Formats: sequence, structure tokens, C-alpha cells
Amino acid sequence: MGASVAHLEKILDRYRLTDGRKFHLADIDPADTAGLDLAKGEAETILARDVKRLAELQSLLYAQDRWSLLCIFQAMDAGGKDGTIKHVMSGVNPQGVQVSSFKEPGAEELAHGFLWRVTRKLPARGQIGIFNRSHYEDVLVVRMHPELLAAQRLPHAAHGKEFWRHRFEDIAAFETYLARQGMVVLKFFLHISRSEQKRRLLARLDDPHKNWKYRPTDLAERQYWDGYIAAYEEAIAATAKPHAPWFIVPADHKWFAHLLVVAAMIEALERLDLSYPAPTAAQRDLIAAARAQLATDPN
Ligand code: AMP
Ligand code: MG
Repeated sequence: MGASVAHLEKILDRYRLTDGRKFHLADIDPADTAGLDLAKGEAETILARDVKRLAELQSLLYAQDRWSLLCIFQAMDAGGKDGTIKHVMSGVNPQGVQVSSFKEPGAEELAHGFLWRVTRKLPARGQIGIFNRSHYEDVLVVRMHPELLAAQRLPHAAHGKEFWRHRFEDIAAFETYLARQGMVVLKFFLHISRSEQKRRLLARLDDPHKNWKYRPTDLAERQYWDGYIAAYEEAIAATAKPHAPWFIVPADHKWFAHLLVVAAMIEALERLDLSYPAPTAAQRDLIAAARAQLATDPN
């Protein structure tokens, strides 16, 4: 099958959400591959080519030093965040990208508002930031477990629909601010089915090389599956904006998830119309002088 980057970019629209009003997570099949049926080798070839393109764009982003790119990854346990990030990162220049993982907050983090820790990890201009989990955990896992919210020691009553609506508003306002500062914000929900999660959790138990990944909380959280799906649906719907889109990435097939994520990053960077900054007249004079000086250097 001759899938090309261009083709993948065309199908991106299907998975991009910029307005949550009619959004139903159940409408998206985690096993969907947009009709593509690629052999492992074919998918790898396309991914390698796309990662190379991403690397070129990253180097333009870095040189131009105006925009930044933030990619947020959210998923249920075993959704494939780590593997996707590994593939995205495989070709890019480590100097221009920072990966940040957000786990259970510690004492210092709990002493601040929930956006504090993510703010500290935002990419600088010219940089790509990758968030492995994010501020969205504060309307997901924290919503499932009242004791996590209690640990945040908020002085006001913190419960009920209104409370979560306010958090969505704060997140949306935060992301609008980031966009206005020149940050391209892309949010990826790697969407796996409950049965695929079971398969992957079993693999963690069966494969000695994957045992380290297994955490008892994985099974505990699985009990909250429906609650999580409802919380994801609401959070995604409330925060999907043209300047901060969500991509609902069917992720039962890892190769498809990887291709879609990289295609979305390429598309977003291509839209910026990046170019290497042209030297000013003064810089051109300096370059000419430096060339003349080096030319007369005996060695
Ligand atoms: P992992 O991504 O598999 O390394 O797991 C990180 C764990 O940290 C997950 O169980 C998350 O739900 C949890 N976590 C991340 N952010 C928060 C948060 N703000 N409050 C509570 N737990 C969190
Ligand atoms: Mg985990």
C-alpha cells in the first residue's frame, strides 16, 4: 500500500478535534487504521522517512527561534505513550527537545496550584516540549480519587460538576495564553480498547523484560475504566480548540498511532512556514569580513 505523508496528513482531519460540542469518544474505534493495511516493514519505512522530515523541521524551528511546540500525551495505562515518544524522539536533535513525565505530585508540587509544575517544563522558543502525562491528570486520575484532590489542600469546597468545569476553563485559558505566546499546542489521546489494555498488561506479567513496567495500580485503575472514559470525554470536549487541538489517536495498532502522531507534528510545523533567518546587511558584512580573515589565515 503506497501510503505517503501527504496521504496521512489528509486523514489527520478525521482524528483532530477543535470543537468538542458533538464529541463522543465511543465514535472512535481504537482499532481503526483509516483503511491502511501496512506490513510492519512498510510502516517502519514511512515512519523513518517522516521522522527525518520532523528532524528537518525541528532544525528550522530551532534556527528561527520564534515558535515552540508542545506535545501532550495522555492515555490509559499501557496506552503506548512511552513507545510513541521513543519513536518521535528517535530522529530529532536532543538539544532542541525536552521530555517531561508527570507522576504523582510530591510535597513541593502539592504546595502549589496544579499548573505550577507543568509551567516549569514548558518549551522555550525554538524548542519542542513533550509531556508524558500533564495537567490533564488533574481532571482525570484526581477526579477518580477524592483523596488525591484532598491532598491538594484547596481552601474552597472542591467537588461537584462546577468544580471540574472551572478546572477545564483554567486549562483552556492556560492553553490560549500559551498559543498567544507563540507555542503550538498539540494534545494526543492514545485511545486503546479495554481488551487491548488487558493484552498489554498480561504481556507485562508474562514477559520478563516487561515485568518492570507492571505496577499494581495498573490493575486498580482498570477497575475505573468507564469513569476514566467519561472523564476523558468531558475533558477533551471542554478543551478542544483550534489553537490547542486534541488528536484522538486510535492506538490499538501501535504502528498507526506512531504514524499519526508524527504526521500531526509535521503538519503543525509545516503550517508555521519556517525558514532559516536571512542575515541582515550588518551580519552579511561581518560574514564577508570573517571569510576574508579566514582566507588569509596560513593554516
Ligand atoms: P506512569 O505514567 O505509568 O509512569 O504513571 C504515572 C502515575 O502518576 C499515573 O498513575 C498517573 O495517574 C499518576 N499521576 C500523574 N499526575 C498525577 C496527579 N496530578 N495526581 C495524582 N496522580 C498523578
Ligand atoms: Mg504506567
